[in-house]
Amino acid sequence: APNRTDILMPAPMARGVVQALDQRFALHRLWEQSDPDRYLTSIAPRIRGMAVGGAAGRIDAGWFDRLPALEIVAHFGVGYETIDAAAAAARGITVTNTPGVLDAEVADLTIGLLLATLRRLPQADRFVRDGRWPGGPFPLSPSLRGRRVGILGLGAIGKAVARRLEGFDVPIAYHGRSRQPDVSYAYHESPTGLAAASDVLIAIVPGGAGTRHLVDAAVLDALGPDGVFVNVARGSVVDQDALVAALAERRILAAGLDVYADEPNVPEALVAMEQVVLLPHLGSASERTRAAMGRLVVDNLATWFTTGRALTPVAETRG
Ligand code: NDP
Repeated sequence: APNRTDILMPAPMARGVVQALDQRFALHRLWEQSDPDRYLTSIAPRIRGMAVGGAAGRIDAGWFDRLPALEIVAHFGVGYETIDAAAAAARGITVTNTPGVLDAEVADLTIGLLLATLRRLPQADRFVRDGRWPGGPFPLSPSLRGRRVGILGLGAIGKAVARRLEGFDVPIAYHGRSRQPDVSYAYHESPTGLAAASDVLIAIVPGGAGTRHLVDAAVLDALGPDGVFVNVARGSVVDQDALVAALAERRILAAGLDVYADEPNVPEALVAMEQVVLLPHLGSASERTRAAMGRLVVDNLATWFTTGRALTPVAETRG
């Protein structure tokens, strides 16, 4: 369609996104081309928007240099550490993500993973299925009762987690780079300080260089031998080797993990441990929430090309 705005999709995205963009724009599905590089060269001067998700890999200056007319990159997901937003900002390119529409879903999942880890629900399910119940009762589990919960990253999702935890009658504290004046939870100046004052540590900070290995051996040791670590942030946020060692040496009690250093690969050592619950990066992965995220990707592009404003630009590219 010659008069329609050209949008580039480098890698497959949810079917609803592909269909909706196809209706409104000239959508170029790069992965379907027999010679993607040659195809990209032929359309590059016309591309004004990109739609990307985790599968697209790193979106950085290499892409921006090749797409001189690029105005906007719409990302499927709230965490956008795979996009060089600073490089985009330097070129006047807007980057959008999908905040808000997934906060409750990810917070629900976090509570589920926390309880599954403490009460050993997946292990108990395996116990029943394996026919082991007639041989005697399932061993008593740890409890959420009496635990202090530390939230590493009290942002939109962290706050949704904290609100849910208020209903569980547990004390809540947090760490971020700055204290939040409008929040009544106890603030700790460092991850180590938070871990030392907590029996459960929940990581829900963004990924990327700024939070790489924020949870290291020292933080895990501060959490201590009765401590439980839950990671729903990004695999890069924890030193995974240090985590495996801490679990293996019983320097922490248990872990519930949704994210890993090298997804979809999960270290054999973690798979072999009974005291960990492992999820395949499920945070926002319900049909309903993924559909809402898809609509927001489409709406960001549609709004940009009709009004010149994006709905949810990331902080680095907020004009
Ligand atoms: P927000 O931007 O709303 O909140 C991020 C929080 O992290 C802020 O409170 C910020 O506080 C804190 N933070 C940022 N950098 C640091 C740092 N270097 N050290 C300590 N704290 C830091 O993000 P969301 O709550 O919307 O999302 C958080 C992340 O959750 C996403 O970026 C994504 O990586 C992850 N996520 C995972 C999902 C999954 O499937 N498991 C699903 C959705 C999101 P301050 O500025 O004061 O430091």
